[in-house]
Amino acid sequence: MHPLAIETPQDVYNRLMAVRRGDPVEETLARILASWSLGYGVLPDWLGLGEDRFGRLLGQHFPGIAPAVLANPGRLPDPGRVEEMADLRNLLLANRTADSEAPTLMVDIVIAGCMGDNHLWEDLGLWCRADLSRLMRAFFGPLAERNDRDMKWKKFLYKQLCETEGIYTCRAPSCEVCGDYLDCFGP
Ligand code: SF4
Repeated sequence: MHPLAIETPQDVYNRLMAVRRGDPVEETLARILASWSLGYGVLPDWLGLGEDRFGRLLGQHFPGIAPAVLANPGRLPDPGRVEEMADLRNLLLANRTADSEAPTLMVDIVIAGCMGDNHLWEDLGLWCRADLSRLMRAFFGPLAERNDRDMKWKKFLYKQLCETEGIYTCRAPSCEVCGDYLDCFGP
């Protein structure tokens, strides 16, 4: 049996936060890790970071937690979406709040979440949409500023990609008169 199989995400979160170093990113990471370790969300093996970077991430932020204790193997990134992932990477890298390793790690985690079919916060294993808005403000400040109407994050990111490529897929002249308004902005 998986060593954490009988625990809830809150239990795993508490365990991680008990050994955190104190960086603000750790609250967000602990939620993501807790969900992922129990099979929630869509993040692939090692959160999409690869085993070595995942191990370093744990060592840097949650010392004493062995990667194997949290690992939830069995899901692999979809190789058919490499180009889409590269576009997202360029977008996120160009809009990092600061040029440090934490936002770079978060780039790959957010990309992996974008490969899911649900709301980005759910696919990332976050616990509510506000968690994701906090993450975006902390790590991708320029994007968060542009999303000043609180558009759903996955839709917002892909809309940025379309506009970068000069593709305008929206069918209405403005959001206010668009029949898809609730899809983009609804609760
Ligand atoms: S509400 Fe309509 S016009 Fe606005 S971003 Fe969504 S699809 Fe495009």
